[in-house]
Amino acid sequence: MFEVVEEVFDAATVRALLELVRRRVIYEVKGVVSAGKEARVYWGKSFERKDIAIKIYLTSSAEFRKGISKYLEADPRFSGRVPTSTRKLYSLWARKEFSNYMRMYEAGISVPKPLAVHENILVMDFIGYEGVPAPLLKDVDLSLEDLEKIFKHLLEDLRRMYQKARLVHGDLSEYNVMVWKGTHYIIDVSQAVTLDHPNAIEYLVRDLTNITRFFSRRGLTTPSLSELMDYIST
Ligand code: ATP
Ligand code: MN
Repeated sequence: MFEVVEEVFDAATVRALLELVRRRVIYEVKGVVSAGKEARVYWGKSFERKDIAIKIYLTSSAEFRKGISKYLEADPRFSGRVPTSTRKLYSLWARKEFSNYMRMYEAGISVPKPLAVHENILVMDFIGYEGVPAPLLKDVDLSLEDLEKIFKHLLEDLRRMYQKARLVHGDLSEYNVMVWKGTHYIIDVSQAVTLDHPNAIEYLVRDLTNITRFFSRRGLTTPSLSELMDYIST
């Protein structure tokens, strides 16, 4: 299982993967799903032989390190406790994504179920089939009726995110929503912030602007930004 992995990851990451095998979270790493600059996502199998997604933060990008330090410093959950060691910083970032996923999942929001986090590795349910990830919202061809339904459900989730999870996604767009069997899944929540974050409202406005831009380009009539802010926050 590790021949794919060993060439790409440092020794500490390989050890962290082995620890997740020891804990019976990961049975097998099957193949790469997405190779971004900051993280890679793999398809794997759990001990119950269920498909899992394994997101591994790469500990090498200096620019990314600066970016996440800034985000963490402004987050009341972490401020004053942001590590200087790169590895610890990535572990904290992975834990932050896990904890954001957990808060959202528990608030009933449609996200992949988070399963485990260890060091720079996050494990969650796989959205898709046989290692092929579900398409992103930007890539699906939907009827006006289905678009309407997804838009409505997405807004309901954003309301839950604000009201129940007390979080703002912060990087929401058609690139971070998957669509599978007619249902949307919100992903990529590492940068999500709590409502007491100084930029929370600014991020919410940006998220809503991105999402309405997408749906209105696809032909939907969308509410105004102030109507949406009202709906989400009250
Ligand atoms: P990018 O910079 O490419 O957006 P990222 O580091 O922000 O990558 P994500 O957006 O979380 O990471 O994941 C990257 C890609 O991996 C997604 O676009 C999606 O195709 C796939 N992916 C992420 N999570 C899952 C999952 N739970 N199940 C299946 N595929 C997933
Ligand atoms: Mn993404």
